[in-house]
Amino acid sequence: MIIHVSKTHENKIQELAQFYDAFVLKKENEYILVGSSKIKKVEPLHEEYVSKLFVAETDMQLADVKYHPKREVKIGNISIGGTHRNTIVIAGPCSVESKDQIEQSSQLLLENGLTSLRGGAFKPRTSPYTFRGMGLDGLKLLDRMREKYGFTIVTEVRDSTHVDAIIQYADVIQIGAKAMYDHGILNRCGKTNKPILLKRGFGATLQEFVQTADFIMSAGNENVILCERGIRTFETKTRFTLDLCGVAYLKEYTNLPIILDPSHAMGYSYGVPDLARACVAMDIDGLLIETHPNPKVAKSDAAQQLTHDEFSKLIQSIKPVAEAVGRKIV
Ligand code: PEP
Ligand code: MN
Repeated sequence: MIIHVSKTHENKIQELAQFYDAFVLKKENEYILVGSSKIKKVEPLHEEYVSKLFVAETDMQLADVKYHPKREVKIGNISIGGTHRNTIVIAGPCSVESKDQIEQSSQLLLENGLTSLRGGAFKPRTSPYTFRGMGLDGLKLLDRMREKYGFTIVTEVRDSTHVDAIIQYADVIQIGAKAMYDHGILNRCGKTNKPILLKRGFGATLQEFVQTADFIMSAGNENVILCERGIRTFETKTRFTLDLCGVAYLKEYTNLPIILDPSHAMGYSYGVPDLARACVAMDIDGLLIETHPNPKVAKSDAAQQLTHDEFSKLIQSIKPVAEAVGRKIV
């Protein structure tokens, strides 16, 4: 249940929060109390303090489109979600590997009129014997690209030990599929107001995924973007299965911007352009695409990263699809 209380009843907030065991979000003119969806009504003696009440069916509450219309999130000076019709393309290598590599990735973005650079500095890996990223040095290389070209930087947080460094350097904090359940990360990300790109755990249901967004939002940060990146099914020929049915659900029932990641879903570069076109046709707010100056020697996710040529062709080919659904690639 979500209870709105006007600032004029400020002195009652603590008592109400305790009574309903609710999180408190402080807004300019009001307080928003968020408690369990199992609570279906307020006590009669509290009714006078309530300016708006939302009774939810499940604990997917702040992200529920019945509670709040589509939310806008700003990435630099680009707005997505809400009533905006932008489809942002966030692109770059899986991992930041060197100054030269990230400079080449930046040139590719510039050539394609894009402004949002991705790259992992702290990499969660499936095998302990593989590259885990450049760490802080990688963040600094991304930061240099931000200064030089005015890009917004999207980079992932692997665990809570470096979440503060990521918050300092990133414009968008990516919570990876494997980190979706890390409450140290979720709580810390709830305490900043930087946009959070929340990736769906590959074994998470849609309900669990959206409830995770509610964890961040109820901790105070409502700038959450949902990212579908493929779930695990019985299929082994592709790395994961991109859940476009799930995307239809998220669009219908949640108020958060939605970004799709065909690169990690497919796992192989040959399928990424077709999937990207299918994603854009789903009328979504953004795409996350991995591309590398020389994918063959990439230190992580080599098989799925597009060459720069393939990437530029992809961008040209998604533009008419975006236009067909009334959107603009930015
Ligand atoms: C990534 O974006 O490079 C990544 C590790 O993604 P995911 O968390 O979806 O596996
Ligand atoms: Mn990757």
